[in-house]
Amino acid sequence: MKDNMKFETKAIHVGQAPDSATGAVTTPIYQTSTYFQESPGKHKGYEYSRTGNPTRTALEECLASLENCKYGLAFSSGMAAINTVMGLLKSGDNIISTLDVYGGTYRLFKNVFNNYGLTFTFVDTTNLENVINAITPATKMLWVETPTNPLLKIVDLKSFADIGKKHKLITVVDNTFATPYFQRPVDFGIDIVLHSATKYLGGHSDVIAGAVTTNNETYYKRLKFCQNAIGGVPGPFDSWLVLRGIKTLVVRMKEHFSNALKVAEFLNSHPKVEKTYFPYLASDPQYELAKKQMSGMSGMIAFDIKGGYKETKKFLESVKLFTLAESLGGVESLISHPATMSHSSLTPEDKAKMGIKDNLIRLSVGIENVEDLLKDIEQALGK
Ligand SMILES: *Cc1c(COP(=O)(O)O)cnc(C)c1O
Repeated sequence: MKDNMKFETKAIHVGQAPDSATGAVTTPIYQTSTYFQESPGKHKGYEYSRTGNPTRTALEECLASLENCKYGLAFSSGMAAINTVMGLLKSGDNIISTLDVYGGTYRLFKNVFNNYGLTFTFVDTTNLENVINAITPATKMLWVETPTNPLLKIVDLKSFADIGKKHKLITVVDNTFATPYFQRPVDFGIDIVLHSATKYLGGHSDVIAGAVTTNNETYYKRLKFCQNAIGGVPGPFDSWLVLRGIKTLVVRMKEHFSNALKVAEFLNSHPKVEKTYFPYLASDPQYELAKKQMSGMSGMIAFDIKGGYKETKKFLESVKLFTLAESLGGVESLISHPATMSHSSLTPEDKAKMGIKDNLIRLSVGIENVEDLLKDIEQALGK
């Protein structure tokens, strides 16, 4: 049945049949840490909630189905998910990663896992020759975000997966910015898909959570083992919040995309804007590739405002509907300054290499009325 369901239906039904004990239509929040055993080892499938919890199971099944995967795992944060994926590796292994990854991912790689003997090579993955050239006998994993954070660069998923297969490397895609509604990396041959469910999956800026999905049974078994061994699991209520968010993922994403496209077009033609980053602008060099592997775009836009930090700061302080805050993907519009916020842990050299300048602004366009959002940007630019 679930194999035949369309995306919109899966979001609402997979893992979420009426509760077998009570008939509750909405998945109950099983707020328990432990479970009764009739005799040692004889139980109804659950023994301890770090290992498994029915509310989390519902979420994990739903996440897997949305990504066209057999297996899903939920985590207490995107970072906990990434930490667990590192459990597939061992000391001495090398990971080749997109240069402009999420700042927290970069920090975890460079300042934590480097100390454990993993090595990381950061390259511009928009040119896959850079990936091929960086492969050494120690390389075990290829890591990308697409679109990237914050510059929304697109990586060719099919070619990326092919490189991974040819060299027998594990391919991982952080799909947070696209969401499974617009992009399903396993359809292009990617091994592991990862999310900060804090963002669009949760969708309401009210929960921190992460997700990993895969079709590979070997990787899944190790990841499931590591999920339990490391313990970065979401509580039942957080699992429920993400599940609730996912029910409206489709309707939210359509609005995010339609609003963001209008905002990006407005910025792109405004004299006070130097450059707009949004792959669905027809003038964007990555537009064709974006259309090939995504069916739309989320509400993420970046742009360079004309001038330096002074003009940038003035704009950030002048917007009224866009809230200056970390994070993204909620129903409300947010604005941020990557250089001092999400990517502040990078060295000035790394920021320069990535193209994160002091006049770069990132928008997470929400689902408010787009005319109000445009008016807000216009008045802030006019100042
Ligand atoms: C936010 C984010 C993360 C980290 O997720 P948390 O839920 O904040 O731990 C990872 N990758 C991307 C692309 C993100 O935006």
